[in-house]
Amino acid sequence: MKELEARIKRDGRVLGEDVLKVDSFLNHQVDPVLMHKMGQEFYEYFQDKPITKVLTVESSGIAPAVMTGLAFEVPVVFARKHKSITMNNDMYVADVYSFTKKTTNKISISKNFLSKEDHVLIIDDFLANGQAVSGLTNIIQQADATLEGIGIVIEKTFQKGRQLIDHQNIPILSLARIKAFKNGQVVFEEE
Ligand code: 5GP
Repeated sequence: MKELEARIKRDGRVLGEDVLKVDSFLNHQVDPVLMHKMGQEFYEYFQDKPITKVLTVESSGIAPAVMTGLAFEVPVVFARKHKSITMNNDMYVADVYSFTKKTTNKISISKNFLSKEDHVLIIDDFLANGQAVSGLTNIIQQADATLEGIGIVIEKTFQKGRQLIDHQNIPILSLARIKAFKNGQVVFEEE
């Protein structure tokens, strides 16, 4: 998505080796006009799928996920993050390892909001090492629901997230694909 790439080039800041800061339009301040356009892009790509629910993880996935849910006119469910959680029969729970923080968090979704009738589209802000998406995939399996597709705002193709999910044969759309950070600048994959 050219507009997103231009925005990343203009406003993104590269931190260290492998982190992109996009606080001014996605991760802290949110640009709703851009989010709306992203929701439309995801809708156009996945519109043939019988999506009944959009799933994401709090908090940065919520903005693009809500705009996608709006386009599909389906509910959006965000998994909650916990440092620790006591086992609870009303929740689906999965582990998500953070490579940056070197800690494992749990994410959970209430059983009230995901069932085996659901056809799910996962939306998230970043695909890095794929742990967040894997946690959501695990929860979808626990619910016996059907995963129809994965939509990512920014994929860092030099990290191993895609390898982790590619073998599952699930369609993935990433709106911006970053292949490297070079001298503090973002280098995109060719389209
Ligand atoms: P994962 O490694 O599970 O694919 O990414 C985990 C989460 O870390 C993402 O959902 C995202 O919230 C955050 N994340 C990963 N890489 C970056 C990055 O380069 N910049 C920002 N702002 N967040 C990131």
